[in-house]
Amino acid sequence: MKKLFGVLGNPIGHTMSPAMHNDLFSLYNMDAIYLPFQVMDEDLHDAVNGLRALGAVGFNVTIPHKSKIIPFLDEVDELAASIGAVNTVVNQDGKLIGYNTDGLGFLKGLNGIVSKVKGKRILVIGAGGAARAIYFTLAKENPIQIDIANRTIENAVDLIAECPYPISSRAFTIEEAGKHVGDYDMFIQTTMIGMSPKITEQPLSLQNLRKQTVVCDIIYNPLETRFLHEASERGATVQNGIDMFVYQGALAFEKWTGIFPDIQRMKENVLGQLGGK
Ligand code: NAP
Repeated sequence: MKKLFGVLGNPIGHTMSPAMHNDLFSLYNMDAIYLPFQVMDEDLHDAVNGLRALGAVGFNVTIPHKSKIIPFLDEVDELAASIGAVNTVVNQDGKLIGYNTDGLGFLKGLNGIVSKVKGKRILVIGAGGAARAIYFTLAKENPIQIDIANRTIENAVDLIAECPYPISSRAFTIEEAGKHVGDYDMFIQTTMIGMSPKITEQPLSLQNLRKQTVVCDIIYNPLETRFLHEASERGATVQNGIDMFVYQGALAFEKWTGIFPDIQRMKENVLGQLGGK
């Protein structure tokens, strides 16, 4: 019988996950299908029970359901519980277990350009769900400092207060953080600023950026945000959101199937969907 996988979100029309996972099923000769499911907030509980009743092997969860789904699951692993968001669910003999692969997905992608986070001074721009997953994951890697800059400073303050791991952190507005650009070894941009169609926007100027700095933007549409473009022009090592997206999907695929999939093939699939190279 065909194995069922999927992703719950709203809207869900632009998701790249089905084509990426279905390509992996064909690569590994698996009789399986991954479908997008558009689910309204009020239908989320029914949708989760429906997937359980249908015997889905596993599924992803995306905006706006990553936190709302938690009460409808049987178990949530420690990292996902501390982040307060689930992006991957595994059906273990009828028991639905929630995980979060976003933070580890980011870290695995980052390891392609930076061998270790230990000893680094990092600025995370944004304090939403993705920032939270990345911040908590990197906090465990012994950096010297992870500061958070956010439009709404209260959200940055709250995020720092809620981090379950010991880490030196300060909260800034994005404007304030712009005055300290030269202080950091790494920038991680996690807001929607610069995302298509508003591609001319940029969170802060990188005027005093040091050349040795690593600059990541977890946006993948466009592939090079204005922020990344400026960082690259100033000689920094840059990374867009493709690596995080592919690795979070690879970690989910591994949880469902036991296979850690072909990352290069996944990247090519996603770049193909985005019309890039
Ligand atoms: P979220 O929880 O809604 O958080 C949004 C963040 O962006 C908040 O910090 C918010 O600040 C800030 N923000 C939104 N609009 C802004 C604006 N106009 N000016 C300044 N700040 C603004 O969203 P999320 O789930 O963290 O997702 C954030 C981004 O990451 C999206 O672009 C998403 O596509 C991307 N993402 C990528 C991956 C990947 O795999 N590459 C995975 C997850 C997310 P306030 O606190 O002030 O509202």
